[in-house]
Amino acid sequence: MFDPVRIRADFPALHQKVHGKPLIYLDNGATTQKPRPVLDALAHFYEQDNANVHRGLHELSNRATAAYEAARTRVARFLHAASPEEIVFTRGTTESINLVAHGLAARLKPGDEILLTEAEHHSNLVPWQLAAQRSGATLRFLPVTADTSGFDYSRLDDLLTHHTKVFAFTHVSNTLGLLTPARELCARARAAGAISVIDAAQSAGHMKIDVQDLGCDFLAFSGHKCAGPTGIGVLYGRFDLLDSLPPWQGGGEMISQVRYGASTYKAAPQKFEAGTPNIADAIALAAALDYLESIGMDAIFAHDRALAALAHRELAALGFLRILGPAPDERTGLVTFTMDGVHAADIVTAADQAGIALRGGHHCTEPLHHKLGLSASVRASFYLYNTEEEIGALSACLKKIHTLLA
Ligand code: PMP
Repeated sequence: MFDPVRIRADFPALHQKVHGKPLIYLDNGATTQKPRPVLDALAHFYEQDNANVHRGLHELSNRATAAYEAARTRVARFLHAASPEEIVFTRGTTESINLVAHGLAARLKPGDEILLTEAEHHSNLVPWQLAAQRSGATLRFLPVTADTSGFDYSRLDDLLTHHTKVFAFTHVSNTLGLLTPARELCARARAAGAISVIDAAQSAGHMKIDVQDLGCDFLAFSGHKCAGPTGIGVLYGRFDLLDSLPPWQGGGEMISQVRYGASTYKAAPQKFEAGTPNIADAIALAAALDYLESIGMDAIFAHDRALAALAHRELAALGFLRILGPAPDERTGLVTFTMDGVHAADIVTAADQAGIALRGGHHCTEPLHHKLGLSASVRASFYLYNTEEEIGALSACLKKIHTLLA
């Protein structure tokens, strides 16, 4: 039985007071807390197995290499990739998308189009701006509907054409909390001859992901938003396509043969992992995925969605908040809102005094905020260890803030 109270016992950072109040951590969209098995995996690696990978012929190096490659296999299983060769370790979603955008820019030309949505995180926008600048390709955007409940998919016929070479979109919007129909969008991209890229930063730790079922060409996520460490992330790429991309960083590990004048490269994924990789964090990411799957991705998804629906209803009932995104039962694990007359930063600072960690700002979706006429908003984002009581505390706290500041 899914029990957030029992789950909380696994997360040491949750058991502390902030400004004298028990911590209520509702900033999981930014990063999640780490369970004991992840912390243990990090300590174990550095205490027992620390050595560089793929280089030594000694015991520790062999152990480190085996654990690092086992982590790749673990991620492949988590995503249901066809093989571990489809998994590149990166620093996170941002680096994964930059890798793809950099590689694809070389084959884009003027007249080609890159389709994004209006709700992309900067890390799924700016790399494509750079690719467009380099190649002469044009960016196009699938609009958010006026009520912010979703995207205007009726525009896809106009926007996704034979000019479209890439369709890159978020799986779950980190600002609106909406889930995109990724499987259908990938099928539409494929039918138009475009490469699909899914930003799974907000979905991978929260729901079951099956890249073969989704039918995507690329998918990116970050370990730190999935109960894993910072500094490690994943790029999944369908092998033939991934392997067809040029290398983007040169150095050790990624080469096959080096001469003074030129070099040849290994196949994917090694081709994209120049230098000493983030060994410890990759291993600890595998521990995080073990942990999440031991609880069950479907159960985590259901819990996060139930909390978000509850939070949406409770906050809407306060009567003084504007809530962005879809209806309560259609949203995933976060709620973003504004309060008339009170700046987001003031709300977050006041909530912090009550021990509640929220996020205020544009959440790296500045163009979306601009379109909505907002400079900032406040986001509460949930994970497997959050409880209904914490939502009650958030609601009570916002009521006080409104009375004091509005
Ligand atoms: N995409 C989305 C939807 C995100 O929420 C985030 C993190 N806020 C990112 C991309 C970037 O992730 P990272 O900073 O871990 O690279």
